[in-house]
Amino acid sequence: MASRTAADIRRHNAFAVVRSIHVAGEISRRELADITGLSFATVGTICTDLLTRGVLMEASRDAALVGRPTTNLALNPDHGLLLGVEIAEAFVHAETFDTALRSLTSSEAPIDSHASTPADVVAKAAEVIEAEVAKHNTKPLAIGVSAPGAVDPVGGTSVFSPYWAWHNVPLLDMLSDRLGAPLLLDNPLKALAIAEFWSRPELRDGDHVIAYLGTGVGAGVLIGGTLFRGRSNTAGEWGHTVLIAGGRQCRCGAKGCVEAYIGSPGILETLRGIDPTSPLLDDEDQVEALTGLARACDEGDPTALTVVRTTAHYLGVALASLINLLNPQTVLIGGWIGALLGPRLLDAARPYVEASAFPTSYQATTLEISALYGYTVALGMAASAFEDYLDHPATKTTSLLKTTSNNNDSRVPGGRARPKGKQ
Ligand SMILES: [Zn+2]
Repeated sequence: MASRTAADIRRHNAFAVVRSIHVAGEISRRELADITGLSFATVGTICTDLLTRGVLMEASRDAALVGRPTTNLALNPDHGLLLGVEIAEAFVHAETFDTALRSLTSSEAPIDSHASTPADVVAKAAEVIEAEVAKHNTKPLAIGVSAPGAVDPVGGTSVFSPYWAWHNVPLLDMLSDRLGAPLLLDNPLKALAIAEFWSRPELRDGDHVIAYLGTGVGAGVLIGGTLFRGRSNTAGEWGHTVLIAGGRQCRCGAKGCVEAYIGSPGILETLRGIDPTSPLLDDEDQVEALTGLARACDEGDPTALTVVRTTAHYLGVALASLINLLNPQTVLIGGWIGALLGPRLLDAARPYVEASAFPTSYQATTLEISALYGYTVALGMAASAFEDYLDHPATKTTSLLKTTSNNNDSRVPGGRARPKGKQ
């Protein structure tokens, strides 16, 4: 990895302070210095800057036995609004957050699997975003959008979406043309890692993995307090590493990928192999089918328990590969399958992880279920948009509606203003 510049270190420190304030609610500068490990002077400088900008506010004062009272700081929820958007394979979800990252309202619409051209999906996403913005009188400071598959956040492009067979779709330009707002684009694995980062500031140090289990499978990788993106932002595509050479067909085109076994279609495929007549297979909705599977496990159904044990074997071996590769301090299991089957699946997977991972690496890793539920990707994208805004406060003046906008300042993570594209 390239060495960090002084500006990178300033950003890293400022984000560590803001995230710690977010988790604490109210906190003094002295406590912030203790928690972040930064000097009192550095914390003071960061807080003064953020107070001047109105991002922080003085929330309360604690009387001191001697000397001046201690001022507690908090994020100022009235500074503005942030929008986190998840474009998933089956739906678009847009959620408005205040600048204390509290969820306010949300809008959602399904994506018709027969209407999934880039133009169809952009039209649907813009419709949901516009519906969400219309609920508030304030324009968002920034909008973070997650799209499935390989995404180039700098170019604002969906490089490859296996589910929709998209290649090099200029998603951000297409959305910007509709919305004219400061937008940034990323991938759900990166969004989940950012959401965990904002919820658990202790992840700022050390190496951690957030393993996502849903329709797709992947990993957000935090190394030394920084999100690891790789050369083209596709680091963490753990779901498309091979578990069984020449195995099941994966939707990415390869065979035997991890996702083909522990993603929701893979789990249902395992069920089909064990009991092709299972009524759970009648449900076309994957979430409903997996919810039924979880319920059947609770009722002691032997077929359902066999499916979970078999899936746990696949998961355990795949997790062991991750652990051997990265030697992380923490592996958090997230995603909707993590929420649905998590403890049962993880307990059954542990012996396989232990049997397959390097013993010292296994012992050094804490395996846990993520505490974040619900639309975590939207939270992560709102937090990502907030970080981008903290880096580029000038974007807050941009008008959302294209008809009244002369915006040409579409920003992307990393501080590079991106050309607006064809208009
Ligand atoms: Zn694959």
